[in-house]
Amino acid sequence: MSPQPSDLAMVPFVSVEHMMGLVHHIGIEQILADLAADIEADFRRWESFDKTPRVASHSPVGVIELMPTSDGEMYGFKYVNGHPKNTKEGLQTVTAFGLLADVDTGYPKLLTEMTLLTALRTAATSAMAAKHLAPKGAKTMAMIGNGAQSEFQCLAFKAVCGIDTVRLFDTDPAATAKAARNLSGSGLTVVSCTSGEEAMEGAEIITTCTADKQNATILTDNMVGPGVHVNAIGGDCPGKTELHRDILLRSDIFVEYPPQTWIEGEIQQLDEGHPTTELWQVITGQAEGRKDARQITLFDSVGFAIEDFSALRYILRAIQGTDFYADLDLLADPDDPRDLFGMLTRAKA
Ligand code: NAD
Repeated sequence: MSPQPSDLAMVPFVSVEHMMGLVHHIGIEQILADLAADIEADFRRWESFDKTPRVASHSPVGVIELMPTSDGEMYGFKYVNGHPKNTKEGLQTVTAFGLLADVDTGYPKLLTEMTLLTALRTAATSAMAAKHLAPKGAKTMAMIGNGAQSEFQCLAFKAVCGIDTVRLFDTDPAATAKAARNLSGSGLTVVSCTSGEEAMEGAEIITTCTADKQNATILTDNMVGPGVHVNAIGGDCPGKTELHRDILLRSDIFVEYPPQTWIEGEIQQLDEGHPTTELWQVITGQAEGRKDARQITLFDSVGFAIEDFSALRYILRAIQGTDFYADLDLLADPDDPRDLFGMLTRAKA
């Protein structure tokens, strides 16, 4: 039976509670692997998407961004903030929600929390990129910055790339202790380190995931040896970077959507025209990824709308036939589409 107009007006809403239930129902490593596969599939059809750098509204303490895209059939957007000072006030650095709509009618198909989903999709994207760029058989990852995103990153690299050891470092030892606690029992060997240098020991992959509204130097040039893959996530705003410029000059740099990454990524430190490679072209075989064992590959991740679109579509599929959503009365949808006012009047009666 085709859905009735009143059904069409109801929008599935996935709350934080629902999302947590769904993740446990599917299994976190499974969902990370599924998302990595879906994001990779959408990167393969990169050219079929509408693309624009995200629309950012900056303040002295943070940023609020809208991230839209469409593949011609579905339209999606995410609202997301980034406020590094928030944790000191007991608030999250990053929170988000998102919407998926049908291009044919313009009607929303899904409204969902995306704070958890952003952590999942960011981790899945990082691991998917590393699958194409990191040294083959890499087993050890240094995880610099042990905040909200960190455990998701570690588990995605385990599920997608086969990492078995993570070396944690954060300037706040309490964050490292929290991440080590959360990862115990995950099957990963977890080593808590007291300096960035210590975390680098034996690491074939280095993930930087710190939050600071400045040009920080989380990694100095001497910390990055030949042959490693750097997954740089935390530099994602104008004036907010993590790596010393010299590391960029020694690396082959891979990006999501260049017009956005030049504004927000590590490469904002470089001269315009410095060579970069679009990740989707590596995935489709149009560009080379890792060429040799001594090459430093750098995924200059800022997070792009297509990754959220993939995640939104995944969630819409995953909730079918489950209780992990509620019907939301989001759309005014009178029986006579032109009688919006009449619907309002009848409600008074
Ligand atoms: P968070 O505030 O929860 O954690 C950040 C951690 O970094 C904190 O524990 C802090 O103590 C630590 N830190 C700060 N300076 C450090 C330093 N010099 N050395 C080591 N550790 C340091 O933030 P989060 O939610 O985990 O996000 C981390 C970063 O990732 C943010 O900058 C956020 O904007 C970015 N992010 C990027 C993407 C993407 O797609 N690229 C997605 C989500 C978040």
